[in-house]
Amino acid sequence: MLWEMHYMNKAKCRLKKDDKVKVISGKEKGKIGKVLKIYHKKNRILIENINKVKKHEKPTDKSAGGIVDKEAPVHWSNVMLMCSKCFAPVRIKFQYQDDNKKVRVCRKCNDFIDS
Ligand SMILES: [Zn+2]
Repeated sequence: MLWEMHYMNKAKCRLKKDDKVKVISGKEKGKIGKVLKIYHKKNRILIENINKVKKHEKPTDKSAGGIVDKEAPVHWSNVMLMCSKCFAPVRIKFQYQDDNKKVRVCRKCNDFIDS
């Protein structure tokens, strides 16, 4: 059990909201989108215009309801973070700045992902 928890921590999602990511597997492979939401407990992320599914919605005061296209979350291991300098999906590493702030760094160009 302890091992499992440790493992889970290690496999933590490195993505953040508003990150640009590329889908690397599944039916949406090759598509690029912006991270809208992260479900940490489920290890899934919601990406703009990726993995759209048809959903039935009940009519509300604001909408008529019916069938709408909505994004469904995908597992974070199916996507890679895009580096704005490399214009490619890259692996990242963490670095600590002088003020102890943790920043993400591109393994390819060694530049900061976070500004
Ligand atoms: Zn880079």
